[in-house]
Amino acid sequence: MKLFRFGPMGAEKPGLLVDGVGRVDVSAFGEDYDETFFGSDGPARLARFYAEQPARCPHVSADARIAAAIARPSKIVCVGLNYRDHALETGAPIPTEPVLFMKASSAVCGPYDDLLLPRGSLKTDWEVELGVVIGKTARYVEESAALEHVAGFVLLNDYSERAFQKERGGQFTKGKSADTFAPIGPFLVTKDALDASDLRLWLTVNGEPCQDSRSSAMLFSVPALIAYISSFMTLLPGDLLSTGTPAGVGAGRKPPRFLSAGDIVEFGIDGLGEARQVVIAPG
Ligand code: ZN
Repeated sequence: MKLFRFGPMGAEKPGLLVDGVGRVDVSAFGEDYDETFFGSDGPARLARFYAEQPARCPHVSADARIAAAIARPSKIVCVGLNYRDHALETGAPIPTEPVLFMKASSAVCGPYDDLLLPRGSLKTDWEVELGVVIGKTARYVEESAALEHVAGFVLLNDYSERAFQKERGGQFTKGKSADTFAPIGPFLVTKDALDASDLRLWLTVNGEPCQDSRSSAMLFSVPALIAYISSFMTLLPGDLLSTGTPAGVGAGRKPPRFLSAGDIVEFGIDGLGEARQVVIAPG
């Protein structure tokens, strides 16, 4: 099952991507893809609704804006240095425990929205990542039971301003949280429909290949991450976990290469679609 959202920013509606039918508007279901929805078996209830009442679900117009695939989550928890080759390119030691940081949920945007460089940006960089959306409250979860707490998977980019991240007083959050630094989608695939343990993920800038790896190369797997994170904080339904990026970020290149206005960033993950941002000068 594939869920997506569409419509203008701030007025998004829920949609369903139906095999053989296309994009349909499921506003009549009456729920957005948020904590309440995911925490109450929303995907299964929505599937039943659509099966029983398809006539209440009109097609979505082809020119509608595709929004973030989920409503703004209570939190976005990110994992740093979760691929060995990326840790090496940054010069950091291979972590013995997952490195965690938070990204402001106000950074969420749609998968084809412009990337707005923050004011004072010198080193805005890209990070294609596999996103995990929580489906059930996770608190002190065992690794063997971790996937029971997953609703599904999304494509996302953990955009990062490296000067803000590393040269402006320490801690990652400042460099990770600017508006539009978390494009999510184009759709969420429910857990039953995708094995995310070995998916290809890739990213290009202006058509030039930059990142190309597989989710199987993670140092800490999705179940291990959920168990680990849930020992420090409660993950709520609809929360987003970003599982880290492989090698090929701009900061890892020699010389480093960062984004400027006019650049085009395209990226994708097997089974989770593709996204594209045009980089825009600070507003
Ligand atoms: Zn990241």
